[in-house]
Amino acid sequence: MADKGRAVARRKDRKEPDAADRAKSGKEEENIPEKTENNEGAPAAEEPAGGAVANGQNGEFKVEPMELPPFEIIQGDRIDAFAFKFQFKNVEYSSGRNKTFLCYLVDKGKASDGLLRGYLEDEHSGAHAEEAFFIQCLPDYDPALKYTITWYVSSSPCSACAEKIAEVLKARKNIKLSIFAARLFEWEEAEIQAGMKSLNAAGCKLRVMKPLDFSYIWDTFVENEDQPLNLWEDCKDNYEYYHEKLSEILQ
Ligand SMILES: [Zn+2]
Repeated sequence: MADKGRAVARRKDRKEPDAADRAKSGKEEENIPEKTENNEGAPAAEEPAGGAVANGQNGEFKVEPMELPPFEIIQGDRIDAFAFKFQFKNVEYSSGRNKTFLCYLVDKGKASDGLLRGYLEDEHSGAHAEEAFFIQCLPDYDPALKYTITWYVSSSPCSACAEKIAEVLKARKNIKLSIFAARLFEWEEAEIQAGMKSLNAAGCKLRVMKPLDFSYIWDTFVENEDQPLNLWEDCKDNYEYYHEKLSEILQ
């Protein structure tokens, strides 16, 4: 018993730098102690191989986080009113707005199904709402149906999402997607502009939200407590600004 205890203690000592390294690289793992306990059946054999086992585990752990897809995606029915007013405001510089809200309507062309409605919210550090939509909101995708999908997004897609969406639309010709964006995300960047052009070429209708669209979203997707939306002062000017930029990019 005493030997085993010491062996475990030594192994722990040795693992601590590993744990620190993982923490630094942002790949923390909690199940190291469990693995140590599981291995107690063969303390003598594993002692010399300890380093190799740890390395082997490191190799596996690097693969695992990639298999965790949209774990930071929030899915819901109605957006908090305060969050809407902040996140959808069509200001020119979107400082502090480091996430995307995506409100969706899905019509599958079957009267019995009705409209699918809801919203997704991401953190840009994790999976993006646009990609999560196809995984979480269309899991039962049926190639025999015709989908008419409308998104109202707080900002237009990043270049990676734009390319992914374009791929989906090319592969699934029965999906018609319209995207209305409150703001254009980093529209000066060449790759962002290329992404918007790809979307357009793939048949996606990409538009900037008009003042009326904000009111529609407020009524349809926000916990509005039956209060009307008072549009901010420069809403129309900002719409015209972004609308012009988008027209220039897509022309
Ligand atoms: Zn994205």
